[in-house]
Parts: sequence; structure tokens; C-alpha cells
Amino acid sequence: MIPCCLYSSVAPPTISKTLASHELLATLSFEDVLAFTSRASALKRDIMLPQLQTISGNVPPDILPPSICEFLQLSTGLTRDTVAACWHAFKEIVWGMPSRNELAAQHERAFPMGGTPPQGVSAQACANIYDSALSMRDENQLQDAGWQFGFKLKNEHIWDTFIILALTEDCDRCGVLLDVPNDGAQTHRFPAAMQARNERIVYEGQPELRHYCDTCMWTYWNDDGSARKVQVVVTDGLSMGRPCCNVFQCRNPLSNNRSRFCWQHLNEGLDNICAVVDCDMPVLPGWKACTLPAHQEMECLHGEKMRTNFQATKRLQKMHAAQPNDAMVAQQ
Ligand SMILES: [Zn+2]
Ligand SMILES: [Zn+2]
Ligand SMILES: [Zn+2]
Repeated sequence: MIPCCLYSSVAPPTISKTLASHELLATLSFEDVLAFTSRASALKRDIMLPQLQTISGNVPPDILPPSICEFLQLSTGLTRDTVAACWHAFKEIVWGMPSRNELAAQHERAFPMGGTPPQGVSAQACANIYDSALSMRDENQLQDAGWQFGFKLKNEHIWDTFIILALTEDCDRCGVLLDVPNDGAQTHRFPAAMQARNERIVYEGQPELRHYCDTCMWTYWNDDGSARKVQVVVTDGLSMGRPCCNVFQCRNPLSNNRSRFCWQHLNEGLDNICAVVDCDMPVLPGWKACTLPAHQEMECLHGEKMRTNFQATKRLQKMHAAQPNDAMVAQQ
């Protein structure tokens, strides 16, 4: 899988002499050395990234960043000490080898129809490596330096991740591949897949509903031989709905979570009718209520209530309360 031309710069006597010089290295197979040097060389840019700017890129750093070290351990199956010894012994060789980009270009030239070889590292390991790499770096440095992405996690990243993870896990359970458009805005890439999943759950039910096991369901036998079962129910007393069109039983989706009506009812002009039930008067510009003082007061009170809820939420967040219940206990 790895073109031999990669190793043209590594003279055989150098490797065998190096291997014999260290007791940890003496036990390595040729494949181990190959795996270490090729993977480390593919990571040259990542190895340089956390180094001080004053360190020249022409010379390999003396010590590998922990995240790279961990990756190489997991990826090659070598111990931490062996990876460190390998780096010490082969860093100059690694530095003379092509980087990931150069390698990709070489691959492309060598295998015009080729694919990507599997990395052999689990998602969990990747996540751990990513995490340990993150904790090493200043959040804003990359974006300040003009990189397209920084390390600051934003709300939309969390939601994208949540949606993608939920969909891929769902597809995995069903044994199918997640098929979404490869381009366009993130908001338009997933609704079709989400709708397909929702419809399947409406027809087939949630798999969790049918779950029972010895931990969450206990069975007791009565003297007459009949059985009783006790099942655990977990509830926090919160009932959460989801934003939907203000027209009763309308199932059309909203263009965003703050919209009052779906596109169809917006087109019918319902946004311009007073929000008070059974009032058909047109709204005052900028208001959701008509000119009747009572209806305007209702809108003011509603706004006041929302503001109070919002402030209460802010206060809870300030208290670093994980749960509203915790905060209430703390307040008493
Ligand atoms: Zn269970
Ligand atoms: Zn509607
Ligand atoms: Zn009104």
C-alpha cells in the first residue's frame, strides 16, 4: 500500500545500525519501523503545529506532542517508550520523508484510481486524541492566525454534531448508509434524512419502548405461581413540546424555531392578524396584537413573562446549576 519510492531516502545500513543500538528498537520488525516512519512523516504539520514559532521547520523537534505520541501508540501498537525511542532514532529520517500532502500527490500520481487506506484507529481513540490535542492549544490562536477553523466550539457545531451523530447511529442500527447532499448550507442537508427517521419511528415505534432487562425490570413470583413485574420509570417532571405552526393541528414545518406560522399560513397572511384567540383584527405594525388596548396589554404581559423566564434562566446559568432542581435546592 505504501510506495517503495518513499523509502529511497532511507539507506538500509542506517536503519539496521540504529535498530541494533537500542534495546527497545532491537525487538522491532521491519513493518513496525515502516508503520512508525510513514505515519509520523504524514503528521509532520501536526507535529510542528504546537511548537514555538521560533523553532525552525527544517529540523525535527526533540520531543513529540502528547497527542501525536498517543496517536502513534494506538495506530502502530507500540508502547509509549518505544514510540519515544523510535522518534529519537528516526526523527531525521521521518523529517526527510514526504508530508501528507506530498504523499497524497504521490499517491494520486501512482494510483490515479486509488482510495484511502483505513487508519485502524477507533472513533473513541480519535476523539481522545483530538481532545488531548485541543487542551494543548490556545482556543483562538488558529482563527487569529487566519485559519478557516479555530478550536472554539459554537452552538451550531454542537447541533450539527448532535444531528449527524443521531442520524449516523440510526443508519448504523438499520444497516444503511447515511445519504445526504454533499454541498449546500448545513440547514438544508439533513431535514430529508431527519424526516425519514421520524416517519419510521412514527410507523415502527421507538426501539427503547420494547426494552427490558434484569436491571430495569424485576420479576417476582407469587405463591400461586403467577408473576409480577416492577419496571423503573425515570422522569424529571419537565414536559417539553416543540415549536410548531400556530394554526391548530397544522403539521407543516416552520422555517425556523422562532416563526409563528408555517410558510403556507404565513402566505395566507395570518401573521398580520391579531394573536389573541378569536380576534380577527389586523395587527399594529411591529406588534402581534391589534389596536385594542386590552389586546396590546396582553402582548406586553406576555413579553414581560418571557423576559422574566429568560432572566431566571440566566440566573440559573450563573449559579452553574446543572439542573433547575439543583438550583432550587441551593436557593432554599
Ligand atoms: Zn434495561
Ligand atoms: Zn401552518
Ligand atoms: Zn385583537
